[in-house]
Amino acid sequence: MTRLDRAKEKLSKTELDALYISSEINQRYVTDFSFTDGSVLITREKSYVITDFRYLEAAKSHVVGDYEIVTPDRRKGDYLAELCRKNGVKTLGFEEKSLSYAGYRSLSEKLPGITLVGVGGFVEELRLYKEPEEVESIIAAQRIAERAFSELLPDIKRGMFESEAALELEYRMRKLGAEDKSFDTIAVSGSFSALPHGVPRNRPIEDGFFTFDFGAVVNGYHSDMTRTVVVGKADDEMKRLYNTVLEAQLAAEAVITEGYRNFEADKTARDIIEGAGYHGCFGHSLGHGVGLEIHEEPRLSQGSGDTVLKAGQIVTVEPGIYIEGKYGCRIEDMMLITEGGAEVLTDCPKELIELDI
Ligand code: ZN
Ligand code: ZN
Repeated sequence: MTRLDRAKEKLSKTELDALYISSEINQRYVTDFSFTDGSVLITREKSYVITDFRYLEAAKSHVVGDYEIVTPDRRKGDYLAELCRKNGVKTLGFEEKSLSYAGYRSLSEKLPGITLVGVGGFVEELRLYKEPEEVESIIAAQRIAERAFSELLPDIKRGMFESEAALELEYRMRKLGAEDKSFDTIAVSGSFSALPHGVPRNRPIEDGFFTFDFGAVVNGYHSDMTRTVVVGKADDEMKRLYNTVLEAQLAAEAVITEGYRNFEADKTARDIIEGAGYHGCFGHSLGHGVGLEIHEEPRLSQGSGDTVLKAGQIVTVEPGIYIEGKYGCRIEDMMLITEGGAEVLTDCPKELIELDI
């Protein structure tokens, strides 16, 4: 079953006659082909990849699914209207998260008499469950990231800038085959490690905790990991903090399984951190889905309600403790939920590393 088949099956269970996909990531997902400035129209009968001549040849050989690839010779909006008329579309679903207000207005003008209905996360819901080749790409990206990291560690020298360490990591990932970095690498040391999303500074790394949060992209799929090491020696207080994060991280990984509630996974880690006396120091949620985007559904948070983890989902498990003005620490792995279980995809040691530099 192609992704288009799955999208059509879902469409058949709605009141919609067709779905207009404007998000480039969702276009890529349903066609298996990456292009810009185009759109995808899925009707109950025929489906179309609307693109231009720059992509025509590549689209013909790469698009997966029973699509007609069309290159309009007039304005795309007029062409879309014609396709809708041809297919008897009365109710058209659109992606309100990716369509701009201007785009929506022009769509309404071009499609008089057609009811436009926002579909929320129609394609995102399909993307929740990774196919084997998607899992393979994410694992390949993860292997690159962890290898780059283990190769970087012995090369960290006193006087090196945080920004330099981040750049080195990104450079090594690219050299190992990543097509991109998953996001701007976080490499923050000393008191700056207290910022969960700190931007690496153009200044020498400081003694104390040194947190790296980073990932690689392979075939459009992202990886995500965090490791915190210590520059110099860790004192007892730092060891206690680190081991509390590690205990929380391992405990969450131990309970996460198919059918487990997302918020309870978060609670498992949170209770350990709170129980150790670090009240209010874990200020973000436990994790998030990863795929064609670095942050996608599902969320593992206190606000996840009754949602449970399902086979095929890939989630991060990333508790942290941040003490304002002092330091912080986070440890992050990715996990794949499987039929009746779950497995950790990250293969990188988690015991405390002290860099003797
Ligand atoms: Zn991360
Ligand atoms: Zn993450």
